[in-house]
Amino acid sequence: MKVEIITIGDEILSGHTLNTNAAFIGKALSDLQLDVNRVCVVGDNKEDILNEFKVAFENANIVLVSGGLGPTHDDITKKCIVDFFETELVINEEVLNDIKGFFKKRNRKITQVNEDQALVPVGAKVIRNSQGTAPGIWIEKDKKVFVSMPGVPHEMRTMMEDSVIPMLQDMLPEKKVIRKVFSLLTNGIGESTLFEKLGNLDELLDGSKMAFLPNQFGVKMRMTIHGKDDEEITNKKSEIEQKIRTLVGRYIYGKDEELLEEVVAKLLIERGLTVSVAESCTGGLISARLTNVSGSSAFYERGLITYSNGAKYELLHVSEDIIANKGAVSLDVAQQMANSVRSISGTDIGLSATGIMGPTGATQDKPIGTVYIGLADDKVCTAKEFHFGDDRLLNKDRTSQAALEMLRRYLLGIPYDE
Ligand code: ATP
Ligand code: MG
Repeated sequence: MKVEIITIGDEILSGHTLNTNAAFIGKALSDLQLDVNRVCVVGDNKEDILNEFKVAFENANIVLVSGGLGPTHDDITKKCIVDFFETELVINEEVLNDIKGFFKKRNRKITQVNEDQALVPVGAKVIRNSQGTAPGIWIEKDKKVFVSMPGVPHEMRTMMEDSVIPMLQDMLPEKKVIRKVFSLLTNGIGESTLFEKLGNLDELLDGSKMAFLPNQFGVKMRMTIHGKDDEEITNKKSEIEQKIRTLVGRYIYGKDEELLEEVVAKLLIERGLTVSVAESCTGGLISARLTNVSGSSAFYERGLITYSNGAKYELLHVSEDIIANKGAVSLDVAQQMANSVRSISGTDIGLSATGIMGPTGATQDKPIGTVYIGLADDKVCTAKEFHFGDDRLLNKDRTSQAALEMLRRYLLGIPYDE
């Protein structure tokens, strides 16, 4: 079964709009075990759109289109569909009622172009749009399926989830082999070291597939596992996961879509521990992430953003001598920040970060991306040096992630050796 996705719109071609629709549709189809053979972007140009419809309908069994269904002059998808399938438009009364209701509810005056959105090609199945006015269009011809959806992402998504995916499922034959995807999330280890530590991947995976996906939050190991039923897949999955955990378990902070702050929050709550944070270079990001977790008042006491040297003396009583001798970005300052915020707030743990995020601010011995993270409890106060990249915002993410990872390992008693 071949599938093609066509996304229509000049703004996608020019890069003003990121093609998230293609990504969403691709993932939804992959969950249905349909592999997409081709994704295409075409501008709002009739000739180009018709050409692409022709190519796609010749080569693929399923063609999914998004964009250009709206009421404005640049929305020409429907006209192209009529030409391509040599059909004509008729008013669909149900859709017209939907549209009238949509405007009435919002107390807005309906115009002729809005009413024209109820025009659908003869012979097409109409997919109702619960989020907007443009209906989706489903056409079956020569045992092939052609689906056109609006470009507005939430309208397209709802239409996919509520209608298109179930309709595709109904027409697909039962699969003999199913596949599942699962991910393990790591931090504090580079892609190549991870790869090395895993050893012989073919042996480890025994037919399953693995991809290493690095970003500023760490390296995701995404596994694709095939099997004849759920039980076989679950068994293979736990076998692979166990082997991986034996080799690199200390770096794994979570699974699938889990966030490190959620993992840390759970550990803090389980242990009944509280934390306070003193941040310089992250400007509050560590605190923001911890307080993104619902129920954070159980473990988060306060955060201080001590960006200037003055704030570091005044609020945290960091020694002026140390700042003068070692610099505000130093191991000693990170330690003092963590220790002070802990004692001032009376929490079990103090966490701190100070660093040079770039692109300016490098010194001879401290290049951009130099970061120190401190962690203190009532007995010990440690700090670690990190070296990240050149991009300011990515460095903020990386620093907050490293701080949360340091906290995670502290809570689990895992030494931080990288
Ligand atoms: P409308 O009724 O709003 O005109 P439409 O079906 O005509 O809907 P478009 O005009 O193509 O859709 O796109 C509407 C908006 O949806 C675009 O301005 C853009 O922000 C977003 N959009 C369109 N296509 C995509 C895409 N492939 N990925 C992400 N966003 C998109
Ligand atoms: Mg439009």
